[in-house]
Amino acid sequence: MTAPYDLVVRSRSVLVDGGWREAAVAVRDGVIAAIAEYDEELEAHETVTLPESQVLVAGVVDTHVHVNEPGRTEWEGFTTATRAAAAGGVTTIVDMPLNSIPPTTTVEGLAVKREAAAPQASVDVGFWGGAIPSSLGSLEPLWNAGVFGFKAFLAPSGVDEFPHLTTPELRRALEEIAGFGGLLIVHAEDPDALDAAAAAPTPRASDSSAAPAAAPAPAPDGRDYGAFVASRPDAAEQDAIAHVIDGVRATGARAHILHLSSARALDAIRAAKAEGLPLTVETCPHYLAFSAEQIPDGATQFKCCPPIRDEANRDLLWEALVDGTIDLIASDHSPSTAELKFAGDGDFQEAWGGISGLQLSFPAVWTAARERGIPLERVLGWMSANTAAFVGLPQKGAIEAGRDADLVAFAPEEEFAVDAGALAHKNPVSAYDGRSLRGVVATTWLRGRIVHGAAGELLDEGTRAPLGALLSRPGSIG
Ligand SMILES: [Zn+2]
Repeated sequence: MTAPYDLVVRSRSVLVDGGWREAAVAVRDGVIAAIAEYDEELEAHETVTLPESQVLVAGVVDTHVHVNEPGRTEWEGFTTATRAAAAGGVTTIVDMPLNSIPPTTTVEGLAVKREAAAPQASVDVGFWGGAIPSSLGSLEPLWNAGVFGFKAFLAPSGVDEFPHLTTPELRRALEEIAGFGGLLIVHAEDPDALDAAAAAPTPRASDSSAAPAAAPAPAPDGRDYGAFVASRPDAAEQDAIAHVIDGVRATGARAHILHLSSARALDAIRAAKAEGLPLTVETCPHYLAFSAEQIPDGATQFKCCPPIRDEANRDLLWEALVDGTIDLIASDHSPSTAELKFAGDGDFQEAWGGISGLQLSFPAVWTAARERGIPLERVLGWMSANTAAFVGLPQKGAIEAGRDADLVAFAPEEEFAVDAGALAHKNPVSAYDGRSLRGVVATTWLRGRIVHGAAGELLDEGTRAPLGALLSRPGSIG
């Protein structure tokens, strides 16, 4: 006679082992205890039977989120970011080391982050460390304290307290990280190529051939989206990625290309992977959902670096996901205040570069994938299984006995219109505002407990302790 389960969720479509089956998922102590037949009699404190319109999948693991707390909490904080995550079917986030003050470049900085996050987290939260010039030579203590790897910029990051690495410093960082088996994650834009683009006399969109023939005259100065794209050219990504690949080959360190925007870098990435180099690559929902042709001049809610490029480029990113060249999709949720996001009244050089996509990343990618005939299980592979494997979280990323009961009831055919003001992140700005997306997150369970859904809204009234846990890299002492 075994004790009753805490929770049983029955669904006609459960994603198990990469395929769909009818099942009853039984949860005990926050963990998936059994995957039983749909009709099996199971004693449980609570049983939920999903309507036929909803499937049951593992929670999304978003490995690229900027929370900004402490220090720039008015941009984004842990309460709002993790509630946005839960509402978007995201049950784990890994926080980026910059835009908060202090940045997560020291063991002390990590402790400050953890202290800020712990009482507020509605989903599980892990942390990246930072590799900046002053932290080179002392990365290993931060690794041992539990960060999942180190982020470096190769061009200015946008904030003074997180300076970028030069090419020789990149090599030093990779050598150091190879020494303890760590991971370097790289914002790959080359500053020389950016400077050259800034000095070019008449900036033009990099792929003007793909622009409509009867394109309107360019908007004055900084409001022209094509001029902005030209200021962050493909060559900047290609050059920086070449430096990373050279460094990986020379040192044996594991490296990851963040937010790949330019499809022109794909050949070099394919060759590096074929060579067996330990390189992984991500792209972001906004590069897959939008194209430059759709972005109005002055619409700085679409500004991010590297930029959203043209339609032909977007098609190639999708192909690279399907063939495995790009390993995963992460949101790069990087908010600021509305004031900064619209600074300069539509001037792309003045506005903050970052897109707030945490809550919408799963439906946005699914909407675009579905239009291309790509099945939902592939989307979950890129956004949950592969991201969990990338950061080494064996308890996340799939519905399987023994893993955490991070579950999402998702209605893939249901449509909704995005209202930026109704999203849960702090500043009501969204590139997706007004768009119609498909795929409604009906309920999110974190380790078997509801963090979003009809009941979740009741739980969110400030009377309960947030259910999220802080995650450390497995094997660390953090
Ligand atoms: Zn980022």
